[in-house]
Amino acid sequence: MSTLTDDFWAPRASFLAPIPELAIAADQLDQAADAVLRGDLETARALIKSCDMPSLSTYRALIVEGEKPEIQRYRPVPNAPERQRGTKARMPGKRAALEIFRRDGWRCRFCGICVLSLDAIKALDSLFPEEVRWRARPYRNRNVAFNVLASSLDHILPHSRGGDNDPSNLVAACGSCQFGRMQYTLEEVGFLDPRLRPPVVDRWDGLERLLRK
Ligand SMILES: [Zn+2]
Repeated sequence: MSTLTDDFWAPRASFLAPIPELAIAADQLDQAADAVLRGDLETARALIKSCDMPSLSTYRALIVEGEKPEIQRYRPVPNAPERQRGTKARMPGKRAALEIFRRDGWRCRFCGICVLSLDAIKALDSLFPEEVRWRARPYRNRNVAFNVLASSLDHILPHSRGGDNDPSNLVAACGSCQFGRMQYTLEEVGFLDPRLRPPVVDRWDGLERLLRK
């Protein structure tokens, strides 16, 4: 029988440390956006194609579909807020969401990777439907870079556990961190509170500049 030591439950920032390919894909898409804006669509197309890396699928599956206790690590916590049945997940309006993504520098507040504006993804998809494949179903048929880098809003205290849509309870997140945590609280997954680390805000814009053409 295995025992869970104190070390095993040492607080962590995210499920896994991001692999380098996540930053490589974000950088290639950043260059692709620049290429689109200067009218060089063939360069943009090649960059988008080359960020469709199988290692990104493997990384995402480890978090979202895996069952390794050293990654998923869910534990019961005394006096945790109870699961509320029948609550529908609600999200703030588009403008409020945008303010949160900008506040958080378009980065996942858990693992720190750069994330993409969903409207920017749709803009690229309309230009390069074969390479982006954003409408493909099942989702694994999409260009995987967009699956792993798509931005989402995450409730720190999950909505189903009583959390609200106040900006103080919402952070930008990548899909892996968002879907890996499901309805669990930070304490139940042994996560540090990401709000204690200041967001990194720099020139990375989630490719929002594609929408200002
Ligand atoms: Zn993340």
